[in-house]
Amino acid sequence: PEQDPLPLELQPTMNTSRRSFSVAVSRLPEIQEVRLKLPVVAEEQKIMEAVHNNNIVVIYGATGSGKTTQVPQFLFEAGYGSPDSPTPGMIGVTQPRRVAAVSMAKRVGDEMGNHGKRVAYQIRFEGTVGAQTSIKFMTDGVLLREVAQDIALRKYSAIIIDEAHERSVNTDILIGMLSRVVKLREEMAIEDPSIKPLKLIIMSATLRITDFTHNTTLFATPPPVLQAEGRQYPVTVHFARKTHHDYVEEAFRKISKGHKKLPPGGFLVFLTGQNEITQLSKRLKEAFRIGQTAAGPPVRISAKDAPIETEDIDFGDAIDDNNDDYDDEDEVDIDLDDADFDVGEETDTGPAKMHVLPLYSLLPTREQLKVFEPAPDGTRLIILATNVAETSLTIPGIRYVFDCGRSKERKYDRTTGVQSFEVGWISKASASQRAGRAGRTGPGHCYRLYSSAVYERDFSEFAEPEILRMPIEGVVLQLKAMNLQHVVNFPFPTPPDRQSLASSEKLLTYLSAISPTGQITSTGATMSIFPLSPRFARILLIGHLHDCLPYTIALLAGLSAADVFIPENQVIPAAPVKDEDEYLTNAERVEEDFRQGIRRKFNKVQKDFCFLDDKSDAIKLLQVVGEFAHEPTEAWCQAHYVRFKVLKEILQLRKQITDLLRTNITAFAGVKYQEKLDPPSAKQVKALKQMVAAGFIDHIAIRADLSPNPPEIRRKPTRAIDVPYLTLFPSHLKRDDDDKAVYIHPSSPLAHVSPQECPEYIVYSYLQRVAPAAATPEKIPKTRVHALTDITGGQLAALAKGTPLLH
Ligand code: ADP
Ligand code: MG
Repeated sequence: PEQDPLPLELQPTMNTSRRSFSVAVSRLPEIQEVRLKLPVVAEEQKIMEAVHNNNIVVIYGATGSGKTTQVPQFLFEAGYGSPDSPTPGMIGVTQPRRVAAVSMAKRVGDEMGNHGKRVAYQIRFEGTVGAQTSIKFMTDGVLLREVAQDIALRKYSAIIIDEAHERSVNTDILIGMLSRVVKLREEMAIEDPSIKPLKLIIMSATLRITDFTHNTTLFATPPPVLQAEGRQYPVTVHFARKTHHDYVEEAFRKISKGHKKLPPGGFLVFLTGQNEITQLSKRLKEAFRIGQTAAGPPVRISAKDAPIETEDIDFGDAIDDNNDDYDDEDEVDIDLDDADFDVGEETDTGPAKMHVLPLYSLLPTREQLKVFEPAPDGTRLIILATNVAETSLTIPGIRYVFDCGRSKERKYDRTTGVQSFEVGWISKASASQRAGRAGRTGPGHCYRLYSSAVYERDFSEFAEPEILRMPIEGVVLQLKAMNLQHVVNFPFPTPPDRQSLASSEKLLTYLSAISPTGQITSTGATMSIFPLSPRFARILLIGHLHDCLPYTIALLAGLSAADVFIPENQVIPAAPVKDEDEYLTNAERVEEDFRQGIRRKFNKVQKDFCFLDDKSDAIKLLQVVGEFAHEPTEAWCQAHYVRFKVLKEILQLRKQITDLLRTNITAFAGVKYQEKLDPPSAKQVKALKQMVAAGFIDHIAIRADLSPNPPEIRRKPTRAIDVPYLTLFPSHLKRDDDDKAVYIHPSSPLAHVSPQECPEYIVYSYLQRVAPAAATPEKIPKTRVHALTDITGGQLAALAKGTPLLH
């Protein structure tokens, strides 16, 4: 498009070609310059022609080729989303992650100059959408809810499903739903010419698109695939010679060295979780004396850093990962892998100061957006990130990527129902995405903290779609609520196996959400209205008994959100590694006292949350949610080691649930939102526990060492976390394990009672395999229960008899 120096208003121009409507957008020259170099822009005509001729189009383009920022603009310029065009409906763009929805909306708005106000975003509880909105970025979950409300998606003229390669459950379900929505709109358009067909564009950064294109249940004829060749700038990939177990330490070494040796350019470091990010950030700040007045404590490099013994296949240390013939004169090729590298010296002689920023999903949004701001002059931007930064985000100025090659993933064992969060190797596709982050604003380098042998041998080509890795009763309920009785027939891009579908249906029958023949019941239909998992939705519907409703809502909102509590190991700094015969130095003694002080305070706070001395996780959470409502400030959260961002969201969710109850269920029409809660009475606490049990009646564990015929117990437990429990529905016992018992997770208040005080019955939310901490002598991973609450035998008996609540 020609550049126009004058800001223009919408200019409908009618002509005789097929593209009969267009909108001129004026962009700043510097924006225009960047745009014109993007491979996707070179394909604009082909893409738009395909969109005009087909209702479903797939676009494949490497990371950074311009898909997310440009394709919505192409549609806008062709009249989609303009009020007086033939296609006035909005352009919807979905993202699997909230931070991407927010930041991409901002970027596209900026690029579109005076049309920027036409770009908005909507994420859960937060949005900027208004009457002016033409392009709406949103999370896939938001659009999924909208489909449930209007199966024809009449508000939209086009939907772009972005990052389809990530294969989030929501994206997968959306693609399945939209294949039907497109058909429906085609039929509607035939009957009523004022209705236009819906355009569906699926965008992927990897070539694993055959699940969408060659899937006849999804699309009868394969949609056209358009390809935008090439990445914008080349990225040189360097493999490590050895793969280190302690990759955080290794990242520290490479970053330290890279900071000294590499020419200017930001670093983006991929780690697996908040914990590691905090740890590494602290190490860097200590070593490079960032923002420190007095000399910090000495930096320790653990000597126990044993490399995995792998022979490296000789690929050469650097593999050129670009398919571009880009020729860069100031190409630097610096090997950070010298064995004789020592951080002990010259730690404060770096060429620039470091500007270290964390980036992970639980970080407050305001903090997250800091990564997009320019780093202070004379500093090197160093971003320590989780997977959040793997796709979609462009962080200006990043030139070097450090990739640990791992990620923390939820795993779900379909036969046993045991979940785990395991750190494992990423896929080759993810590794290439991560490398791609270095080439977005200029040529870059990716330092992989693993060898090419490990990469070749242990990395799968693509990650498994999320739908195969989690319980799907929520998905099944949503589909049934949309009148899809036979969920097996739903056009899943990758169908879940029949066993998971069957067990989901069983659970839903159990919760009275569907009839024994698989039809949705009126209870089930009501349950599907709430943004809660089916178990929680079920609890909600009995939650008014004993005057408990505001508490039930607060509790369910709390249980649905991410973890409120900041774990102990992130609050209390780790003690230095010392040999037994070494004495503490004076400075270390001061540090140790400091540590003990934090520990005491942390423990006191945790204990105070355990209202009425109750040891139930659910009641502790309720207490936090209740106290926060009285003092909803960041300062309070900091003082109580809980997450402000999560608690604020819980507050919003409480309000939303209350509104939904009031507006959708006649019996609840008079319900008022009660933000400030007094502590519940002892009777209410009892009732709440029983309600929780009612939603998790198949998740009961019974203390094993108290029964008259205890199973083989090796030794008398001395700690609560060693007390063996057996699950009531022992599906996980089928496992070929030597240890059939499950144990309380250390994060539970129950973990701190004496073994004698451990309750006979507990209700749990899920089971988790936990690898033993590196420092402990135990080697076998244990299955741990995430307790929701203790419960009495009498209450369980009442539930079994079908009495919903005891008096
Ligand atoms: P894709 O979706 O294909 O991965 P994007 O459309 O997100 O690519 O980005 C294309 C290009 O636009 C980037 O390579 C970069 O040059 C530029 N860009 C995107 N977002 C920003 C931003 N926030 N700041 C500066 N440049 C950006
Ligand atoms: Mg993108």
